[in-house]
Amino acid sequence: MASTAPYHDRDGFIWYDGKLVPWREADVHVLSHGLHYASAVFEGERAYGGEIFELTQHSQRLVEGGKTLDMTIPYSIAEIDQACRDVVKANKLVDCYVRPIAWRGSEMMGVSAQTTKIHLAIAAWDWGSYFPMEQRLQGIRLTIAQYRRPDPATAPAKTKAAGLYMICTLEKHRAERMGYADALMYDWRGRVAECTGANIFLIKDGTLHTPTPDCFLDGITRRTVIGLAKKRGLQVVERTIMPDELGGFSECFIVGTAAEVTPVSEIAEHKYQPGKISETLINDYTAAVQPKKVAAE
Ligand code: PMP
Repeated sequence: MASTAPYHDRDGFIWYDGKLVPWREADVHVLSHGLHYASAVFEGERAYGGEIFELTQHSQRLVEGGKTLDMTIPYSIAEIDQACRDVVKANKLVDCYVRPIAWRGSEMMGVSAQTTKIHLAIAAWDWGSYFPMEQRLQGIRLTIAQYRRPDPATAPAKTKAAGLYMICTLEKHRAERMGYADALMYDWRGRVAECTGANIFLIKDGTLHTPTPDCFLDGITRRTVIGLAKKRGLQVVERTIMPDELGGFSECFIVGTAAEVTPVSEIAEHKYQPGKISETLINDYTAAVQPKKVAAE
């Protein structure tokens, strides 16, 4: 059972700057640069059957995102992979969510922050379906966001930098206030982009269409699903999708590590019917994330 206790007040262990510490002791100071200036980058991973799906890809993205934010995370990819595994194990978790986060510490306060220590912490917890299960099976309802994904010339748009989630939280709140599960965000040019924490696929005449990820996260789940669809012989078109096309698709789903593959039944006034292709890819994704069986000797 997932805990409902606040996240700071739970049992277990958190990997913090190289060692496992009791969960409640994994603190940061209020004068941490990361808190004031969003100098932080994070990951979201899921373990299935005790193994973290695409772990190394997540660790690589974390390190790359850090570099983009001018932060050198002081651990190798292999060390980060191992730390993630250690956290899952220390908390005796099998199916769970894993959250690494790197941030600038408190050695300097101000915009300039070159000598701040780069911290890394990794937590793991039981986190079931991202959307309530009843909604998920029927398809979730999306509204259209007011904020847009920024131009890569405005912000490091393709990273999982904490600062990029300011508009995501605002839009998720607005959507939930209006009774929707999430919001579809357009990009700075007014093209269909992604949701607040997931990428989007739209289906027409047996073909999958998904926006070209030129100013938002090219999600690991997105790439996995494209591979699975192609394996089924389905055509996947990565292209510019304009809002006035949204009425012309029959199925729609969103994908992400947390959201997995979640069907969409509505985007504003447009309706979709979760169908055969969505079902096939939900099943294929569920199979793909299972730990690889090592052939018996
Ligand atoms: N877009 C955003 C804004 C996200 O937060 C996420 C979740 N990390 C995704 C897309 C999907 O990425 P992934 O499949 O790598 O989890």
